[in-house]
Amino acid sequence: MSLVTVEACAAYDLDGVRQRIHGLLAPFGGMRRFVRPGMRVLVKPNLVSASDWERAITTHPSLVRAVVDLVQEAGGDVVIGDSPGGPIQDPPPVWRRGGMVDIAEQTGARLALFESVTWERLNGDDYFVASPFSEVDLVINVPKLKTHMLTLYTGAIKNLFGAVPGTRKRQLHLRAPGVPDFSRILVDLLDLTRPALTIMDGVWGQEGDGPGARGTPHHYGCLLASPDPVALDAVLVQAMGYRVRDVLHVVQASERGLGTADLEAIQIQGDRRALDFGSLNLPRAYFFLRVPSWISAPLRQAIRIRPALDEAACAGCGRCVEVCPPEIITAGHPPRFDLDRCIACFCCAEICPQGAISMHRNWVARLAGVGI
Ligand code: SF4
Ligand code: SF4
Repeated sequence: MSLVTVEACAAYDLDGVRQRIHGLLAPFGGMRRFVRPGMRVLVKPNLVSASDWERAITTHPSLVRAVVDLVQEAGGDVVIGDSPGGPIQDPPPVWRRGGMVDIAEQTGARLALFESVTWERLNGDDYFVASPFSEVDLVINVPKLKTHMLTLYTGAIKNLFGAVPGTRKRQLHLRAPGVPDFSRILVDLLDLTRPALTIMDGVWGQEGDGPGARGTPHHYGCLLASPDPVALDAVLVQAMGYRVRDVLHVVQASERGLGTADLEAIQIQGDRRALDFGSLNLPRAYFFLRVPSWISAPLRQAIRIRPALDEAACAGCGRCVEVCPPEIITAGHPPRFDLDRCIACFCCAEICPQGAISMHRNWVARLAGVGI
C-alpha cells in the first residue's frame, strides 16, 4: 500500500502551514525520517513564471519556507531550484516575485540556477537534467495543484518537467508533440529525478484553462504529502473529477512501477473531507488523450486548435517567443505567429504573464465538441 496524507488548509499563514505539514509528515515519522544531518536536499517548487501568488500559478512561498525550515531543523543543507521555460536569467524574475529570494535571505538556503546539466540516457532518449538533481542526496518535490490544457492535470509528476533547464524543454516538446509521447517523457523525468517526498500545495490552485495566467484560481483548501508521487497524483486526479486512467502520465508512471495509481492500493490518511472538491471546471482536451501522436498530430492540424492572441492584453514581453518549441513566433508588440507550423503544445499560453494567449478552436472542432 502507498500512503497519502491530507490536511485541510484554508490559508497560507506560515504557522498554520507549518503545523499542517507536521501533521502530514507525522504518519511517515516526520521530516527526520527522510532527512538526516548533513544531507544535501533540493527543494523543487513550481516556479513556472513570474506571477503574484493570487493567480495560483506558482507554489506559495509559505509552503516552501515551511519545508525549508523543517529540512534545516532535521540538519539538512537546502538548495531551492526550478527553471522556468525561457532563457536562464540570473536571478530569474520568478525567484523574487515568487518569494524565493526572501526565503533564501531569511534561512540561508541557496538558490540554484539550473545552468549546468547532467546528460542522461533513458529508454533510448537523451535528457539534459539540471545538475543539482544528481548532486544532492534527496529531492523534495513541492508542486502546485492545477489543471493543464495539454496533460489535463499538473501536480507531482508534471512538476518535474522543470528539471529540464530553460529552453531545453523546447526540444522535448518537439520530440513528443502528442499527449501519449509527452506523458512518456514526463515519466522518464520522474524516473531520472526520483523525489523522496512530495508535498502538494493545494490550498489555492487552478481550474479551467490552467496552468498559466488563463487558468482560474480555485480554493481547493488542502495540503497533501506522500513518498509516492504517483499515488498522490492519482488521489488528486480522482478528487478533481477525472478518471485516473484519463491522465496518461499518471497511468504510465504506475505501469512503469514508479508508484501506484491503483486507488485500491492507496491508503489515504488525515482529513479526507478536504478532498471533496465538488464540481470543477476542467479542460476539454479528453478527445486527444488516448490517441497516438501519429493520429493526434494530423487531427490537431485538421481541427486547428491554435493560439489566439488578444493584442490589447499583450505587453510585448517576448516570453512566448522564447518558449515556442518550433520557433514560429516572431518578436514584436504584438508578436506574430506562423500558425501553419504550430504543434499546439500550449507553451506560449502557459508562459504568457498577461493571459493574452488563448487556444482557439475552429468550427470543425466546435462542431465535434473537441479541443479547448
Ligand atoms: S503574448 Fe504574452 S508572452 Fe507573448 S509578448 Fe505578448 S504578453 Fe508577452
Ligand atoms: S505557437 Fe504556442 S502552441 Fe504553437 S508551437 Fe509555439 S508555443 Fe506551441
